[in-house]
Amino acid sequence: MKADYLIVGAGFTGATLAERIASELGKRVLVVERRDHIGGNAYDEMDERGVLVHRYGPHIFHTESRKVFEYLSRFTEWRPYFHRVRAVVEGKEIPLPFSLASLRILFSDRVADRLEEKLIGRFGYGARVPILRLKQEEDPDLRFLADYVYKNVFEGYTLKQWGMRPEELSPSVTARVPVLVSYDTRYFQDAYQAMPKEGYTALFRRMLRHPNIKVLLGADWREVEGEVRYRYLIYTGPIDEFFGYAHGPLPYRSLRFRLEGRPVPWAQEVGTVNYPNEYAYTRVTEFKHLTGQDYLPHTTLCYEYPEAYEPGRNEPYYPVPKEENEERYRLYLEEAKRLKGVYFAGRLGDYRYYNMDQAVARALKLFEEVAQCL
Ligand code: FAD
Ligand code: UDP
Repeated sequence: MKADYLIVGAGFTGATLAERIASELGKRVLVVERRDHIGGNAYDEMDERGVLVHRYGPHIFHTESRKVFEYLSRFTEWRPYFHRVRAVVEGKEIPLPFSLASLRILFSDRVADRLEEKLIGRFGYGARVPILRLKQEEDPDLRFLADYVYKNVFEGYTLKQWGMRPEELSPSVTARVPVLVSYDTRYFQDAYQAMPKEGYTALFRRMLRHPNIKVLLGADWREVEGEVRYRYLIYTGPIDEFFGYAHGPLPYRSLRFRLEGRPVPWAQEVGTVNYPNEYAYTRVTEFKHLTGQDYLPHTTLCYEYPEAYEPGRNEPYYPVPKEENEERYRLYLEEAKRLKGVYFAGRLGDYRYYNMDQAVARALKLFEEVAQCL
């Protein structure tokens, strides 16, 4: 078999690069994917009840990038959707990110008024304040609030999700869900928020439907490497695995997903409910909120159980953002730079906690580099 580009992995990164190279450069691309389907971790499929479920955990699309949104819009129509998340704190469901609306549910009007005034006075209405930043405040009311939110929303959840406390991770991790000095009860505030109308797998099918693209499923690239002649390699799998773990394994966190059908139209009021302080799972997502299948008489829930990553047994879902891991990653990056005609990208190839839009943005940028090298 012959190809100009061999791309390892058919997730957002691999599919974007394959599509750009095939359509814009007119080159032949072979995509090799070790799973038996395209889409990477964004893969979705119908379950036996007809609910469109995400096999690797709930995926909600949101971005600030008009470029990424317009690019993906070539392959899908969208269903407008604002994701809403609640956390169970002291038995009450509060909106997440923690906001002025959450204050009102937990505290008396008198206390909530005072905390609201302090937050607005200190940070301004609409500010997004990471919890580790709020914890540095000296004002006694703001300190009280920071300690309360840290203890009830972040500490237990982060211990479950990562097996570590918030301070042991890069501050960027908990900053993904800042304290919101506003009454916005949406999980994301990005300019573009929507779900692909027919799902992610349909989107990927359209991206990869091109006469210059061939996709080989159920094959690890090492198995086919010797049988394919190619000029360039784009690798979106784990970078430490590529180099045979020469500098030691990079840590990843894994998850187990439990899908549960219920013979009722709806099981929860919002897309996701987080349980920072109870149970072994972190959160429960009801797919129908995401997919808009409100006509179905039954529903499907997804429970997420964090676990240690064990190669061969489960999947490396999350890179673990932490300085010492970054240092190890940089050793692999140095190795990567020495290789000619080999590019690394994606959540596993770059060892970065990318959202889907960031994976696409990174792939579009790499495409420009690749095109210039021709
Ligand atoms: P992947 O999707 O991981 O694709 C890489 C592919 O490479 C995989 O299919 C893998 O099988 C294949 N591969 C690896 N090694 C080899 C090999 N040796 N040979 C052949 N194939 C190989 N993002 C959002 O924007 N919103 C969300 O709500 C969201 N929720 C998420 C929830 C969970 C539980 C997880 C884990 C992630 C979530 N994400 C979300 C992030 C999103 O999944 C990623 O940003 C995106 O999938 C990254 O795409 P990728 O192509 O870089 O990697
Ligand atoms: N987080 C938390 N409590 C919550 C929600 C999030 O402590 O109720 C922290 C936790 O460390 C989590 C991180 O914020 O891993 C990022 O949350 P996000 O929802 O963005 O995680 P993802 O959807 O990527 O799993």
